[in-house]
Amino acid sequence: MKKKITTMILSLSLLSVGSFFAGQALAADAKENSQTITRDGYQTSSKGSAEFFTGNVRIDSLFSENDSAPYTGGYVTFQPSARSAWHTHPAGQRLIVTEGVGWVQEWGGPIEKIREGDVVWCPPGVKHWHGATPTTSMTHIALTGMLEGNNVEWLEKVSDEQYDTKTEKSKK
Ligand code: MN
Repeated sequence: MKKKITTMILSLSLLSVGSFFAGQALAADAKENSQTITRDGYQTSSKGSAEFFTGNVRIDSLFSENDSAPYTGGYVTFQPSARSAWHTHPAGQRLIVTEGVGWVQEWGGPIEKIREGDVVWCPPGVKHWHGATPTTSMTHIALTGMLEGNNVEWLEKVSDEQYDTKTEKSKK
């Protein structure tokens, strides 16, 4: 009889130790496996730095990268004639145009018109720029891959000569 009680106590304590750890695990899972809603306006807009952009550019950061989704997201709005400097992305970038009409160009290629609903994939290491046209503003969502903590390599500015309506590829 005495042995049976001891066994029971041991089982109970094992049970409670087990459930203690199970409880810890559940609490951790709840944090990692729950959805997150970031409310509109949570993060303040910032102006595109004159070092990397020409003209009036507004950047609204949407999210940072994490371990399972290694890319950043942001809205970028270019006022007419505003554009990024030339740059590359070490892990590529997707642009989703959400408003207006703009231009994108890769080094050595024509200026291409992009408009609301268009999606652009820029592979890793491809030198390019994106921005508005001289007369229309353009907003895109930029999803930019992260590689070793870096998502962009900035190069020289797009000169007024390079940013020229006559070089736009005509697409009718
Ligand atoms: Mn880019």
